[in-house]
Formats: sequence, C-alpha cells, structure tokens
Amino acid sequence: MGYSHTVSAAAGWLALNHLGVVSVADTPSLVVTTLACAGAGMLPDIDHKNGSIAHSIPPISGWISGIVAAISGGHRKGTHSILGVLVFWAVAIGAQKLTYEGIPWISIFLAAYTGGLALRVLGAPGGWLGAVGLGYFAWVTDSLAVLPLAIGVGATVHIMGDLLTTRGVNPLWPLTLKPAFASRLWRKSGYMALPILGDAGSRREKALCLLLCGYILFVSAEILGFAPPLTA
Ligand SMILES: [Zn+2]
Repeated sequence: MGYSHTVSAAAGWLALNHLGVVSVADTPSLVVTTLACAGAGMLPDIDHKNGSIAHSIPPISGWISGIVAAISGGHRKGTHSILGVLVFWAVAIGAQKLTYEGIPWISIFLAAYTGGLALRVLGAPGGWLGAVGLGYFAWVTDSLAVLPLAIGVGATVHIMGDLLTTRGVNPLWPLTLKPAFASRLWRKSGYMALPILGDAGSRREKALCLLLCGYILFVSAEILGFAPPLTA
C-alpha cells in the first residue's frame, strides 16, 4: 500500500492548501512540503520490519524500525493512533528547534528523507540524490516552517487510509475500547474500520488512488498555470 499512502497524503496536503486550511508561502515550498507529506504518508508503517521504511537506509532504518515496533506494540498499533500522530508531529517540532550554527539540520534531514521516500515510491530516478536536492530546497524556501504540519497530515492520512481497509486500526491506542456488540466496524479487539476499500491492495483501493492522482495532476497543472483556477 506504500504507493496509495504516498499518493493520498500528497492529495490531502494539496487539498488542505487548496481549501485554504493550510497556506504555504510559495510554489517551491508547496512542492517540497507536498513531497514531504507524501513520504510522511508512509511513516506509520515504520513499525513493520518488512516495510519500505525499514529497508530505506539499511541497516540503520531496520534498527529504528525494530525499536519503534517494540515501543509502539507492533504493527498497526502505536504508530497508527492519535498518540502516534502527535509523536511524529512533536519530533518534527523538536527538530525545528535543534539547530547547529543556526541551521536546523535534523529538520532539513526530515524534509529530505520524507521527500526522498516519496520520490522513491513514485519511481523517480537517482535514488537518494533527489532527497539531497529536496533538503537544500527545504532550507532555502519557507518549507521548514510548515514541515511538522505536513508530517502530521501525512501520518493522519495514512491512518485514515488503513481505517478504510478490512483490518482497521485502533486510533485510541494504548487504550482499547471494546464494543458491547462486536461488528466489522468495531471489533472485539477494539480495532475500528470503515472497510469501503476492502483488503489492502484491492481494486477499489487502486481506483481511489487513480482518482487522487488525477486530482494531483489537476492541481499541479493549475499551480503551473496550465489550467484555469479551481474554485474551492
Ligand atoms: Zn499502516
């Protein structure tokens, strides 16, 4: 589902900008933060040892994935909850504050890493080279100011995406609210789902992904001046 998570997070970020909920200063910052949000759309799956994040920068990413999985209780637990989103956001806020000689290196790394993840999933050539460029652009534009928000939105869209699959998530982790009457929407395990997409990787998921790609293309064309403005 890496591809779907990336595309839906990018679409979510563009939609928030489009609706005026978030306002990114200029087009270069919007490009950098959209890619960062898109990559952050995969962050919750850092709890999966066979996921693309765990294999992104071996062996370090594998170790981090193992540590996160141990702390967060395993796959689709802590990182797939409201608390998990707050932690991702708080890490990005903390990174903004940590500077060395005035440069927020960790924040730049976060922008480069998440954006680089998105580029890799989308099949951009050049491996991590694109990420280095994104890190540079994140620093010279106004991207870092909204980076924590972009990361929080990416993680939130991921959880919403998983919520739409059969397996569902427990957004209240570490609390487990058990239903009086178990159903597909709210199971005995406390997991909740609105399984309109069916199992992960279903045809419906691919159709939704295609629709979101269309939206991204449309908004991109508008930003680049190829299309008449969409009125939100
Ligand atoms: Zn997930």
